[in-house]
Amino acid sequence: TKVLLTGGSGFIAAHVLELLLKRGYEVVTTVRSETKASQIRAKYPGAKLTVAIVPNIAVLGAFDDVVASTPGLDYVQHTASPFHFKWTDAKTELLDPAVNGTNSVLSAVQKHAPGVKRVVVTSSFASLISEASLADPAKVFSEADWNPSTYEDGLTGSPATAYRVSKKEAEKAAWDFVAREKPNFDVATICPPLVFGPVAHHLDSLAGINTSNARYVDLIQGKWAAEIPPSGVYLWVDVRDVALAHVEAMERPEAGGKRFFTTAGRYSNKQIAQIVRDSFPDLAGKLPDPATVKVAPGGDLPAEGVYGYDNSRATKVLGIDWISLEKTSVDTIKSLQGIPA
Ligand code: NDP
Repeated sequence: TKVLLTGGSGFIAAHVLELLLKRGYEVVTTVRSETKASQIRAKYPGAKLTVAIVPNIAVLGAFDDVVASTPGLDYVQHTASPFHFKWTDAKTELLDPAVNGTNSVLSAVQKHAPGVKRVVVTSSFASLISEASLADPAKVFSEADWNPSTYEDGLTGSPATAYRVSKKEAEKAAWDFVAREKPNFDVATICPPLVFGPVAHHLDSLAGINTSNARYVDLIQGKWAAEIPPSGVYLWVDVRDVALAHVEAMERPEAGGKRFFTTAGRYSNKQIAQIVRDSFPDLAGKLPDPATVKVAPGGDLPAEGVYGYDNSRATKVLGIDWISLEKTSVDTIKSLQGIPA
């Protein structure tokens, strides 16, 4: 059984790749440079794995060549999309790769891979939220929700709004494609909030850490010692559960046509700091001392309460037993300790 995985060099994709190979799939993964390709090949010598170069996913038709030259594809996992704030132009560097990338994968499969049964798309909690509801303790987020921000908001809003719109528009593009084209395959989407967990992709140094794990690097480098920063979004999930969700959503027939809100639940930076303090006494000099540290507004769960979440569909349909914040935090720090500063 053959699977195409886009963006195999990414934090989440590296775990999806590991799980696919472990379950015996033959995998073709795409990256944007030869350097990244050889790093992945070196990690899996002898595996049923091909690494192909797709230099620019923002170009419509970007995936035509790789899909046309890969006979016998059964499934697709589309994870590649920008998740960073190092861009200057939201349209060309964020929205285009997100939205055109998704459309390009789907149209390449429709044209060149008639055997594909399902395409799993990595979406995000960003496509469920409404920014106003993030301040509403009575709100319960689920797959029924769609981010009301528009494409225009993505061009004119804050960097966070632009990223959220890129995810919402990309996921919407996938559902619109299915409704419009009625292809031979169906689609399932995975919507994680902040993803933490050990690093399985190649990293030269901690400076290159992926966006959602950056707080753990800051923590062990002493940047939280005087003040615990705001948590941001208060929902999280372990990367291994996100990878499992991708593969289960591909394998289970009943997952087709569904969105999955994959979250383990609430967390705060203050909780993370406490877990790391309890588990890594050798790091004590870098970590916040509960007796003296200040907690910025939002560093702890707000006293007035936080929006709720309903993860029951992902729990039931995908069969996920969510990894705890304790295990994730310990495994994340251990994995970061193996990477040069
Ligand atoms: P990473 O930054 O580690 O991975 C992003 C992947 O997309 C990399 O393979 C990257 O390639 C590729 N990519 C980004 N921009 C482009 C581009 N312009 N052209 C080609 N490839 C590109 O982050 P994650 O693993 O966290 O993100 C993976 C997916 O998960 C994304 O779709 C993201 O939106 C989504 N997501 C992540 C969450 C999180 O908290 N981590 C939460 C919710 C959703 P390269 O290695 O070359 O940079």
